[in-house]
Amino acid sequence: MSNQQKTIFGIDLGTTYSCISYIDQHGNAVIIPNKEHQLTTPSVVLFEGKQRIVGEEAKNSALLSPEAVVEMVKRHMGEANWRFLYEGREYAPEEISSYILRKLVADAEEALSAPVQDVVITCPAYFGIAQREATVRAGEIAGLTVHEIINEPTAAAITYGLQSEENQVVLVYDLGGGTFDITIIEIKGSKISVIATGGDHTLGGRNWDEAIVGYLAQQWQAETSSLEDPTDSPETLQDLWLKAERAKRSLTARKSTKVVVTHNGKTVKVMLTRDKFDELTAGLLDRTTLFTKMTMDEARKRGYTNFDLVLLVGGSTRMPQISARLERELGLALRIFEPDEAVARGAAMYGQKLLLNQHLLKERQAVPAGAAATEQAMNAKQAHLEIARALGLPDEAVEKLASTEITNVTSHSFGVIVTIDFQTSREREVAENLVLVNDPLPAFRMHTYGTLEADQEIVELRIIENGQESEIVELEEFQELEELGKIILPLPPGLPANAPIEVTFELDRQGILHVTGREPKSGATSDATFEARGGITAEEVQEAKARSSKITIL
Ligand code: ADP
Ligand code: MG
Repeated sequence: MSNQQKTIFGIDLGTTYSCISYIDQHGNAVIIPNKEHQLTTPSVVLFEGKQRIVGEEAKNSALLSPEAVVEMVKRHMGEANWRFLYEGREYAPEEISSYILRKLVADAEEALSAPVQDVVITCPAYFGIAQREATVRAGEIAGLTVHEIINEPTAAAITYGLQSEENQVVLVYDLGGGTFDITIIEIKGSKISVIATGGDHTLGGRNWDEAIVGYLAQQWQAETSSLEDPTDSPETLQDLWLKAERAKRSLTARKSTKVVVTHNGKTVKVMLTRDKFDELTAGLLDRTTLFTKMTMDEARKRGYTNFDLVLLVGGSTRMPQISARLERELGLALRIFEPDEAVARGAAMYGQKLLLNQHLLKERQAVPAGAAATEQAMNAKQAHLEIARALGLPDEAVEKLASTEITNVTSHSFGVIVTIDFQTSREREVAENLVLVNDPLPAFRMHTYGTLEADQEIVELRIIENGQESEIVELEEFQELEELGKIILPLPPGLPANAPIEVTFELDRQGILHVTGREPKSGATSDATFEARGGITAEEVQEAKARSSKITIL
């Protein structure tokens, strides 16, 4: 084995903050700081001619040049029609996200003096095929090799080392900057599966900031006896947002903080206590516990009645009010430790695991077929040691990674439109889901259908994605039928009615669907890979990539 070290980096591409991690020479997942010496980088992009400024500086200009700044682009990932218009050109969410990735990568390359090429990127468990694919595209546009997209709660569970413990059911409470996700996962030995997901994708730390902004403006009015609302001025508002977030962070560490509010030449010093802050934001906290309980109910419906632990993830869980309330309300053990780094670090560990699997595969191929079991086991042990040496990792780290197994589940169901109760008064079209939400990935399912008439010329397979949990779904149950596309299978002449047609669904680890229709007698097949609805095309990716070389990221 060559001594050439290769690393797969873990990237948490967050709604408000992003972060990159790798496994260092001691086998620890560490966060690589950016050029501003911060461990996390604001996911904010400022357009300036051919330059894109990403991070703190972009964030500071967000309100002053709103026409040139994009915030929270992650909310638009996978949306077919969302575009950001700048200087007469439209930018898809994938392309804007690629700038954030490039900033993380460029800073990491500088910090490590080594190239960053291979990555695992995380996304929320509720992301569907379109959003996952958009995430892969963002990586491609940034010139990266995206090995896998894994769920954020799964990554967090890996960081907390839960996969090596007893079987348990864990609530991952992730309160970030712009979203609140609650994911219930089951850990069985080394296997991690998602049981239920919920949350509010418009609730996050920013709402806590907003409460402070409102309070500061109100205090300024009260102290100056002015009727003027300082938040009407974009400059003051911008300043208040930044000060509010800073004050919020201070209140995580201390009981009170002072904020200086200046508007129209009048300055007011506002004292904000943690108690006041908690009072102002109690309604927001209530919403998170409400969603948590709703998601626990979902899990109960699936037979999970015991919950062992709450894992706190996301920068906003640093606020003391969060653990205080959860402890009181749920009575479960809580775990919190570097909440805004947990996801990226878990992704890096997962990346290392992928690398290890590649090495193991190579080593196994070197073992002669038919070798005795004990010999194989010895070879595996030997292989681990060699890999440990090659990757420069401690032996135990490799052993642990090798024994970890991680299962992702699909967050959507996939099916085909079929006619049932044929030639009866109840004849109708329904959706038959061949892959069901929460099925482990990769998923494989074949089902044989029959043609409707003799001498039928074609079979049309209409493929759909949906959130339903049952195999047969009446079409009225859909608010909107989300058709991913069609496959047309031409049939040979002379087939009788009800001739078998095999339909195969394969959903890979990335959640990308491959469907095959086959007529077994003639062997005729038609197949297609379903790119997500809406995302940008491969051509657009190439164009964006070409444009990218002329764009500087600062
Ligand atoms: P996301 O995953 O949504 O991009 P993060 O998990 O990085 O975001 O969390 C970002 C949020 O965490 C921001 O709203 C930020 O203000 C908040 N945050 C970070 N550190 C602290 C702290 N010490 N106290 C309170 N809030 C914090
Ligand atoms: Mg996050």
